[in-house]
This record gives sequence, structure tokens and C-alpha cells, in this order.
Amino acid sequence: MQWTEANALITAASRIIIVTHIFPDGDAIGSLMGLTHALRSIGKEVTPVVDGGTPDYLQFIPGSDVVRSDLNEITADLAITVDASDMGRTGEAGKQAFALGVPVIMLDHHPTNLLFGTINLLNPTAPAAAEIVLDWLDSLNISLTHDAAFALLTGIVTDTLCFRVSSVTSDTLEKAHRLMAAGAPLSEITQRTVSRRAPGVFALWASVMPTVQIEEHVIWAVIDRAARESAHYKEDGDGGLVGLMIEAAEAYISATFRETKDGKVDLGFRAIPGFNVAQVALSLGGGGHIQAAGATVEGSLADVVARVVPLLKEAARVGSPVIV
Ligand code: 5GP
Ligand code: MN
Repeated sequence: MQWTEANALITAASRIIIVTHIFPDGDAIGSLMGLTHALRSIGKEVTPVVDGGTPDYLQFIPGSDVVRSDLNEITADLAITVDASDMGRTGEAGKQAFALGVPVIMLDHHPTNLLFGTINLLNPTAPAAAEIVLDWLDSLNISLTHDAAFALLTGIVTDTLCFRVSSVTSDTLEKAHRLMAAGAPLSEITQRTVSRRAPGVFALWASVMPTVQIEEHVIWAVIDRAARESAHYKEDGDGGLVGLMIEAAEAYISATFRETKDGKVDLGFRAIPGFNVAQVALSLGGGGHIQAAGATVEGSLADVVARVVPLLKEAARVGSPVIV
């Protein structure tokens, strides 16, 4: 970890921009706001930004309602990206930040990361980017405030599905313990994220369930625009369907295929321990984690399903379950 180099850039900077990935999740906004609060507590002027701002369901994270959606008229002497595996994932806000020509500290936990920063703080075994943020704050000797702890625990809880994924270690639990001791409300965070579904999600799933197929330990579902519109489902993703489908006893790998407004297809993949969907996502121009990955590809729904399902079947064939 290039802590020393990163810390020197922090010391030298007074105005800092922090960017995260497009379609931000709890770890994206949690890491963004955790770092924002911490750097503000040592006197830095910090601008957090992401395309579209903070999604409504994450605006309970203190201060996240004022995350900017662009950097118009903002300058800085340092940019930081959190939870993004490549430059494209940082969207238009990222483009604006890189255009400033200032040093970029890249902080992330995706094994598919393309190391696009001036300084790279990559820990591919960390279950959440928020854990790396906490390690960094320790290295910078910044003490935890209530608001920073609240945001960082949200990142850990959401990316670990409340401490359930295989990358969780005793260190994760120790960090969660520290964040709770600093005032982060575990139960509230859980109720507002992993235990809650977006409005319209069951209507969406009801119309999509007839498309579910299971073959050769791969389970998949197809979400076209008509299903989304008839369910009045406003969000972009699958509402967590890919995570539900991987719970099928027959499944080693799950996938959702989602038709986007601009005629592309968003892919979401999950795998049980012993199988790798990060490689499949990377080969399609996306990325992610060994057991949770995704990509956006060109083509019609039918063509993309025909092209990608065989890749998933191959990934299911070459792996073997860790727990049988
Ligand atoms: P989800 O299925 O929850 O949208 O995404 C699961 C994982 O895959 C996340 O870690 C996310 O960062 C990654 N991911 C999803 N879509 C993309 C994509 O289009 N590009 C990249 N690089 N990663 C993605
Ligand atoms: Mn993450």
C-alpha cells in the first residue's frame, strides 16, 4: 500500500474532490462520505461528487444529500476515487475531475482494478472499499467522528450483505466493532439497506420470473424494458434478483440481463465460493469481484443472452463448490 505517498498528497492538498462509481451503492456512498467527513475534520475543503448525486434510499447517510452531481466551477489540488475499478466507472464526474490535471489517488477493492491513479491504494481482498478507507484514516491518524463511522459502516454492511460473504474476516468484524463504538447504528443501517427493497420491485420480479431458466448450474433471468415499465420500477438494476437467484440449490452462478434505455444490456453476475464471475465480466469489458461482477455490453437482449450464457456455463464447469 502506498500510504506514505498518499498521505503526503493529503498533507499538501487543501481542496480535495472525491468521486465514486456511477449507479452508486452503499459502499460507494459510504466510502465517499466516510472519507469526506474525515478529511473535513482535519480542515480540508472537500467536494464529494457522483453522477446523479446520492440515490434516495442512501440519503440517510449523514451529509450525503448534498453530494454534487457535477463539478461545474469546482477546482481542487487533489482528486480521489473510491470503489471504482476503472476510469469509465467514475462517469462524467470522474471525467471532469481527471480533466483538472491534478494528482489522483485511486482507492479500491476490486480484483479487476486497472490501477488508473497516480497513487493506487488497492486491496483486492478487502470485502468493502470502506474498510480500506478506515485503514487509511488509521494511517493518517485521523480519529473517527460519528458521521464518518456511520458512513463507513454502511459501506461494510452493504458490500458484505451484512457480514455474510466469504471475504469477511475477523478484521472486518473488528472494524465494525470500532465503527459501532464511534456511534454507527448497525440495526438502522441494516433496515434501510439489505433488509429493504425498492418500490415496485416485487411487481418487476413477478413479470420477470417466467423468464428464469436453470441449465448446467447456471440460473438466469431477462428483464426487458416492457417489464420495467409495466412494474413502474424506477431504479436501474434488478432490485437484487441476481442475489436472490444465487440462493437456488442448483445454482453455482446466477445472472440477470437488463435491457437499458439506450439499447445496451447491463449484466449482473453472482457466484458461490469456488466459481469466478469476475473473469467473465472482465472479458466483456466490465469488472467486479470473484463472486459478484457485472458489465454493460452492446447488442439486443436475445443476442447477448446467446453469447454470454455459454461463457457462464463454462465458468460453472471449470469451478467446483467450496462447500458441497
Ligand atoms: P451489481 O450486480 O450489484 O450491479 O454489481 C456487482 C459487482 O460488479 C459490483 O462490484 C460492481 O462494481 C461490478 N460491476 C457491475 N457492473 C459493472 C460494470 O459495468 N463495469 C465494471 N467494471 N464493474 C461492474
Ligand atoms: Mn465496493
